[in-house]
Formats: sequence, structure tokens, C-alpha cells
Amino acid sequence: PAPGERHSLPFRPALTSRLQVQRALLALTIPLETLQEVKGRMLQAMRKGLSRQTHAQANVRMLPTYICSTPDGTGKAAQPGDMPVAEGGWCWAAQHHGGSAGLWASAGALGCLLQPGCWVMGSSWSPPTMPLQLFDFIAQCVRQFLAGISSPQHRLPLGFVFPFSCRQTQLDKAELISWSKGFSCSDVEGKDVVQLLQLAINKQELHHVDVVALMNDTVGTMMTCSMRGEPCEVALIVGTGTNSCFMAEAQQVEMAEEISGKMCVNTEWGCFGDDGTLSDILTPYDQHVDQESSNPGEKRFEKLVGSLYLGEIVRHVLTALVAEKVLFTGSSVAILRTKDVLKTHCHGWEDGGARRALEALGLQPSEQDCCRVQQICRAVVSRAAALCAAGLAAILSHMCQSRELERLVVNVGVDGEFVTGLLAPECTATLLPSVDGTGQGAAVVTAVALRLAAQRREVDQLLAPLRLSRADLERVQALMRREMELGLGLESHASASVRMLPTYVRGTPDGTERGEFLALDLGGTNFRVLVVRVAQDGIRMASEIYVIPTAVTQGTGEELFNHIIECIMDFQLKQNLMEQVLPLGFTFSFPCQQLGLDKAVLLSWTKGFSASGCVGQDVVQLLREAAQRKQHLGLKVVAVVNDTVGTMMSCGYDDPKCEIGLIVGTGTNACYMEEMRNVGTVEGEQGRMCINMEWGAFGDNGCLDDIFTDFDRLVDEKTINAGKQRFEKLISGMYLGEIVRHILLALVEKQLLFRGKPCPKLQTRDIFQTKFLSTIEIDGLALRQVRAILQDLELQASFEDSLLVQKVCQTVSLRAAQLCAAGLAAVVEKMRENRGSAQLAVTVGVDGTLYKMHPRFSQHLQQMLRDLAPNCTVTFLQSEDGSGKGAALVAAVACRRAEP
Ligand code: ADP
Ligand code: MG
Repeated sequence: PAPGERHSLPFRPALTSRLQVQRALLALTIPLETLQEVKGRMLQAMRKGLSRQTHAQANVRMLPTYICSTPDGTGKAAQPGDMPVAEGGWCWAAQHHGGSAGLWASAGALGCLLQPGCWVMGSSWSPPTMPLQLFDFIAQCVRQFLAGISSPQHRLPLGFVFPFSCRQTQLDKAELISWSKGFSCSDVEGKDVVQLLQLAINKQELHHVDVVALMNDTVGTMMTCSMRGEPCEVALIVGTGTNSCFMAEAQQVEMAEEISGKMCVNTEWGCFGDDGTLSDILTPYDQHVDQESSNPGEKRFEKLVGSLYLGEIVRHVLTALVAEKVLFTGSSVAILRTKDVLKTHCHGWEDGGARRALEALGLQPSEQDCCRVQQICRAVVSRAAALCAAGLAAILSHMCQSRELERLVVNVGVDGEFVTGLLAPECTATLLPSVDGTGQGAAVVTAVALRLAAQRREVDQLLAPLRLSRADLERVQALMRREMELGLGLESHASASVRMLPTYVRGTPDGTERGEFLALDLGGTNFRVLVVRVAQDGIRMASEIYVIPTAVTQGTGEELFNHIIECIMDFQLKQNLMEQVLPLGFTFSFPCQQLGLDKAVLLSWTKGFSASGCVGQDVVQLLREAAQRKQHLGLKVVAVVNDTVGTMMSCGYDDPKCEIGLIVGTGTNACYMEEMRNVGTVEGEQGRMCINMEWGAFGDNGCLDDIFTDFDRLVDEKTINAGKQRFEKLISGMYLGEIVRHILLALVEKQLLFRGKPCPKLQTRDIFQTKFLSTIEIDGLALRQVRAILQDLELQASFEDSLLVQKVCQTVSLRAAQLCAAGLAAVVEKMRENRGSAQLAVTVGVDGTLYKMHPRFSQHLQQMLRDLAPNCTVTFLQSEDGSGKGAALVAAVACRRAEP
């Protein structure tokens, strides 16, 4: 204002009103320095979104899209995972957007774009509010579209352009984070949108249509613009809402765990400013618009830039000026109180256009009114463009910095109306308007997804033999049951693969056991001597680990048992137990033919033991003889037990229902309480006896041959006991890693893994340990860990490779758990029938590192068991120190029975 004007204000209404208009225009103008600051804040917000630590709190979410390269225009399409693309693919693409119907196609695939306010197939449509309605509606559109043009013999892949913020974990897996742009269908947020669409499509009986890829509209734009031979690495959408995407250095996209190459990031920058960072540029008009919107406080940047809101900003400016009696003084302005009346009319008005539009609303604008409204519109649009440019400048500078370039030259694909004013002088950006909307790009991504789907089918084919159907498992259960009967029968015993060894343990603890016992544990990882005090208030133990030198384990039997007695004497001395004669329980974890509770003939040594003169001998007798040689007279061996039995007994002390023991560690085995009348190999009909099943050998007679895969045969061939312990080799820790290793080798050979590069280290036996399965299968994408493990094997795994390795591990451990369940189902069903009851409640005591450490094994086991033995309620109890405590408890139970 010129000096002096201020004084004359009250007297010159025309000038006053001009000033008031200018004040409004000024409020809408953002100076260049402020725009620079906005750019800086956007950069900061982007970094926050990229970082793993701060991602959860970030407003600009920087979502990974799993698109790893753009088409280069030479006929090769986008290449997620940097894999070569099969030539020759155009695609079907369907697109409905911006008020008109557009479903279009080329050979092979179908694309579908969802945008607000669509007209589809010439019919007007507003977003339904129920999820089923929404996805059913889309599926109906697809069906109508296909009615005339597609023969259902061909599978039709469909790419889905879905411009809402999603947490995407694969090209075809995307959970909706939140609706925007007026959509609010309930029950979709948090769900996989791809799955919802596929279900709806199936419901339309379009069984030949597969939803194979989902992408954001920004990604579609980037892909479309790239199709013309100029690789496009940034895309901008400025339409109803606003958003952007760009090719970031994959390493910086910490949420995606991809380390090499690039990955397209969907910035979701519409939410920029939701934490208050834009408060200094917000005008009272913007605050009104925000307050009246369906999501106050959210999408602050979008509400400054998107056309859905620009009309509203103008309306609020006009309303304010009308209140100040600056505009439309001669006419009724009630219409301006209606939300959204100016929705999409605010930019590009020619003189006549402005007048016509205002008159259409029932206003009677003067020449000056038209002129002022036009000025205001221009200011609102210019501000939007400037802010958008500041955002784009932030992206460009980020790319320039992270690529360590002095100068970035890049193409930017733009969809929607956009005015530029660049704030990043170090970047030369060429704006490529997107002519075909996003549909073409959608088709490209769909083509890539199609190739990935083909690969996935090949992988599934390779893994299919490892996937057991319910019928397979029922058959395994029936076979186990048959082998159990054979093993128990006096005549059939010799030919059974499940040996069903009597243990002479006739009862589980009932809680009344009392006293002090010695226990020995030989055959686990360590040799231990223990003293166990069983009292009213629980069990207390003290133990000592003793080393047995290799020279002794591989020397003579006399030396070995002499050594054991020396260890016991040392222990008794230290524990001040020399004066007492304590009953001793002996956990001896080698295969034995037991002839009594305290009589066990060693069948063979395992685990590196080879002391001479022991096989074929009663190990209790060997121990007693050694005690005599050492003149240790205070030794009373009352029981020798297997670790399975020890596990059952130790859990049985806490839970009297525990009548089954299970081991899933290096090997696998089980024991349970059988009726004496069914045990043909032991005299007597009364009561029960614990049977050591030795189920690891199940299948050694060939009865499981049809479920063994080539991978299992390869693993078996290389073991020291080829053809033996066949069931164990499908289940236990010593073998699962090896099975996985053989599958990985096969995948590499078929070029489905590590781009087919040879992996010399993966040829090494036992290099892939079973504990890796536990790490790799931990909940959530532990892809970093997968990668670290594979790196140790000198394998550079891409994102896709890591997922595939994870899938292989899951398949192998699932099969192991399910087979274990089939075995247990046979056991619990037999126990239930033995007792002639319709229902059985029983507890399984379990030990073994695989069972205890694997994140999924126990869950899968229990789930499958419920399925296979629905009349049994089975509880699982992990044993703590089953072999130590268990041996003492066997001794205690034996002593209890010995008393009158
Ligand atoms: P054992 O069966 O000899 O008594 P464990 O029950 O401790 O011994 O089982 C050891 C086996 O468990 C190892 O051979 C290995 O295959 C497997 N294992 C070790 N760590 C893990 C783990 N974290 N997850 C799954 N399996 C494991
Ligand atoms: Mg063990």
C-alpha cells in the first residue's frame, strides 16, 4: 500500500477491499526461502521414513514396493529381484479412472485401476462402504469387461493399481494401512487387498483370472512413462490427491531388507506435515478445510496440493472475503456455504469461464468479482505447485546425494496437472507427462509378476513331494499303528520296524515318592552324576559333569566302567554321601534289549562310543562288577532307563497324566504306558508297562517308501547307517538341515535360486545346520538373518532368494512336525482304545532342542495331532533335565513298589 492510503481507508471502500484481497493473496504466497525450508523438512521426513528405527513414527512412510528396476524401453519389462524377463509380453490392462471407463488390454494380462469417483462401464459409481460390496463390484466390472474379449481357456493374470497406502511385503501381498480420498469401506484396513480381490473374482467364477501384482498409481505412472525408451525414475501424481515414488538405493530402504540395487519407494508424502511441520505455512482457510474434512489433522500436505481440496480452499477464501463485504455484494451467497461446490473448478478459468461457473452456482458476479476470484484461484494453484516442486526437489536432492553424484539427470513421470518451479539446481529433471494414465505401467508390472508366478509354480512342483496331504498323514498314522501291534506281538516282534522294547517301568510317579537317590546320565552330550532329593515340597538336585576321555570311551569296557565308578565315588565324597547306600537310577541312552528294570543288554554302541567287551552284556552287571573291583560296596543299582522314559517320568512327577515321553533332538523317539495284556514279549497280564518304541526305525522295512523324496534318499545314502532309522531321518535335528541343503542345490540347478550361480560351499555335507531353520523361520521377515546365514555359505542372496530359502525351511520343518504328529496320533488313539473310553486326556513329556528351540515345530505338531486324533486331548509338557531327574524317579517308583 502506498503511504497515506491507510488514513484514507474508511473513506475509500474500493481501495480497502483491494487491500483485503491482497492480504488474502499474500497469505497464500510462500516465499522462496520458506519453500527451501519446506524442502529441507521433506528431506528429513523422508529419511525418517526410510530408517528402520524411526519408520514406525514417520509421517512420510516411504513404503517399499518390491519393484527393483524400471523398463528400459527395449522390450524388457521391470525386473523385481533383478531377474531376467522372458521376452514377448504385452498385457491386458484394465483401468477405470477420473470419471470415465477404461478397461484395456493387450496380450496376456489384465490390469485394474481403482480410483475415487470412477465411472465404470459408463455407469456412475460412488465408493460403496462395505468391503464385500467394493471388491464384488470390481470383480463384476472385470467380468463384464471380459465378457466379449477373453476365452477362459487361458489363464489371465491381473495387475491391480490401488492408490492407497499399503504395507507391501511382496508384489502380490499388500495390507491396507488406511483408506484416504473419501474411501472408508469397513474391515479392509489391515487385510491383504490382493487376497480380497482374488476372493471376489473367484466368487464371480472367473477362475482363470489370477491377481498377480498390486501397485500404487505412482508406480504405474513411473512404469508407463518408462515405456517410451526414456527410463523414468521418479513419478508424481497430482490429481485428486498427491503422491510420489522414486527409485531409491535399495540399501537405504531399511524396511525391505534388500541390500543391492535399487527399489522403488512409494513416499506417501500426502501425510507430510501431519506432525505439525507445516504449521507455519497453513492459513486459516487451510485450517477450515482440514476441520471440515473426514480426517482432520491428517494428510496435511495433500490438503494443500490435491485438487480434492483446492476448490475448498478457494471457497473458504471467498467466504471470508464475502464476510468482509469485499465480494458478491449484490447477490445471495448462501451457496458458498455448501461443501465441495467448487470442487474441481478452481483452476484454469478463462475470463468467461469464471463468470459462467459462478453464475451456474447462482451468484451474480461483477466484473471485479470475476477478476478477484480468478486471482485467488491462481494463488491457490500456484501455492500447490510450489509446494509440490519443493517436495520433488527434496526427492531429487536425496537421489543425487545418495548416488553420490555432482549432477543428477533424471526423467520424472507426471500424472495430473502440474506446474513446476524447481528448487534443486543440481538436478536436471525432464517432466514426462503420462498419456495413458497408469494402465500401461500396470500391465508391465503384471507381466513381470506373471513370470514370477511361473517360477513359483516350478518351485511348488519341486516342493510338492514334501507336502503331505491329510490322507498321507492318516496313512502314516495307520502304518505306525500296525507296526506298533507287530512290535508288541511275541511272534511278529522280530519283523517289526518299530521295536516296542519293554522297559519294566510299570508306573509313573504319583507324587508320594520320597527319598534320596543317585542318578547317572550317560549317552547325552555330557556324562553326569547327580543326587536327587524327592521331598514333599519338590525335587532338589545337585550334579557334577565329568569328562570321559576319548581313550576311555574307545578303550576296554573295564576301563570305561572303572572310570564311571571313580566318578561316582568322587561325587559321593564331595556331596558327603559316602556313608549311605542310595538307590541308583541309570539313564543309559544307547539301544538296549531290556530284560528287567535293572537288566539291559547293550545292542550296539553309538555316538562315538566303542569300548570293547560291552555289546551283548548287561550294562548294570558291568557297572556292579566295576564297583566290586573298586571295592565300592555302597552301590544299589535299581533301574536303567532310556532318555525317553526319563523324560516321561520327570514330567510325570509334575503331572500324573503324563504317560508319554517324546524326544525330538539329534534323533527322535517315543515311549508310552501300554497295557501288560498287550505286551506279548513280557509275561503277565496285570497293570501297565512303559514301552520304549524306538520309533526312529519306523519305515526301515520299506513301509514308508512312497513318502520318501529324492532329497531324503540323498540324505540317507550319505549317513553311516544308510537304510536305517528312516522315520528319524525325516524328523530330527541331525537331518533337517541336510534335507534343506539338498533342496537348495536342486533349486540352484534349476536356475530358480541364486540366479543359478554354482555354490561350491553348499556342496559340503552338514554345512546347513538345523539350528538355521529355527533362525530363518522366526516370525516376521528375518531376512537379514537369512542373508547372514547364506553369506557365511558364500552365497549372495537377493530378496527373492531369501524368501525362497525361508519357504524351503518351512516346508521341511512342517513335514517333520506333521509326521511326528501322525506317529503320536497312533499312540494316543491306541491308548484311548486300550482304556475303552470315548475320550482320552493325556500329557506328553517332551525333550530335545529341536522341539524346544524351533519357532513353529511344537505348534504344527500340536495342531496336526488335534486334527488326526480329535477324541484325545493332549497336553505337552517340556521336561527339564529329563535324563537326570527321570532316572532318579524311576528308582523312586521302583522303591515305592518294592515296599509292601
Ligand atoms: P540330544 O538329542 O543329543 O540329547 P539335543 O536335544 O540337545 O541333544 O538336540 C541336539 C540337536 O538339536 C542338534 O543335533 C541340532 O540338530 C538340533 N539343534 C540345535 N540347536 C537347534 C535350534 N536352535 N533349533 C533347532 N534345532 C537345533
Ligand atoms: Mg537329550
